[in-house]
Amino acid sequence: MSSQLIKGKEISASIQSELTPVIEGYLSSGRKINIAIIYFGNDPSAESYIKSKEKTFKKFGIAINLFNFPETTEKATVLKKIHELNTDPDCKGIMIEMPVPGQFDKLELFSEIYPSKDIDCLTPYNYGRLLLGYPGPVPATAGAVIEVIKRSGFELSGKNVTVVGRSNIVGKPLALLLLRENSTVTVCHTKTKNLPEKTKQADIVVVSAGKPKLLGEEYFRKESIVIDVGINFLEGKLCGDVDYDNVSEKVKAITPVPGGVGPVTSIFLIKNLTVLMGLSK
Ligand code: NAD
Repeated sequence: MSSQLIKGKEISASIQSELTPVIEGYLSSGRKINIAIIYFGNDPSAESYIKSKEKTFKKFGIAINLFNFPETTEKATVLKKIHELNTDPDCKGIMIEMPVPGQFDKLELFSEIYPSKDIDCLTPYNYGRLLLGYPGPVPATAGAVIEVIKRSGFELSGKNVTVVGRSNIVGKPLALLLLRENSTVTVCHTKTKNLPEKTKQADIVVVSAGKPKLLGEEYFRKESIVIDVGINFLEGKLCGDVDYDNVSEKVKAITPVPGGVGPVTSIFLIKNLTVLMGLSK
């Protein structure tokens, strides 16, 4: 049996082709869409995430305004900027890139963003809606994982899904989205005992641990569908949390890294934007 390679770029392109007419329709009447990204210092991973977001937004003709604050910036300065952006009619989305310096209480900072401009689902209001099962923006990576699974033709309803990782931006919101899809969800973390038992019992395994090549073939069955969210550097090369070379031929389907979940994540921000603007559901 040869395994299915799940191609994130193709999935991303198909979502793009659905969203392009929606955004073009809005812009064609002379209206504007600006997106603001607030970030601190010069963290290389933050800068690389911002570059990839800029590239995606550019494809849709959407302008990105970057607000780079020194790490020592006082809280009042950043809050003032968020308030300005909240009331700017052309600004349709506000994101705050991690890492946020220690003098800020992240929750306090995120809470200042108007929920109607919260395209990264950072605010407690939108996170609460997700928890309660109401429509709205969702954390982009978690939303991307659902798209990757469904658009690859795999059923979620009634399936056992094991998620490795419980972070606020990936594992936890993904578990909520999977429940919405009627999956039976097991969430694993660093204190989980017998991880291979938990992953082997699942029809679908989503790995978001942030540990390069953590999971080898002993964690899977030949029927496993493996979604690798990890983005790590090992010996100068990009790799996932799954040992791809060891696993790829021994499971039913797998996402590569790079080229799996990553390309779908940035396009998902556009999806969130259209939801918040009332242009799509
Ligand atoms: P995080 O460090 O906040 O959380 C990692 C989670 O994995 C924790 O809940 C931890 O308990 C769990 N974990 C760690 N080691 C484990 C182990 N040995 N066994 C079981 N559980 C373990 O990370 P995050 O922000 O969720 O990101 C995870 C990975 O996903 C990173 O590699 C990150 O770069 C990547 N990521 C990718 C995208 C994308 O678009 N593909 C987006 C965001 C994050």
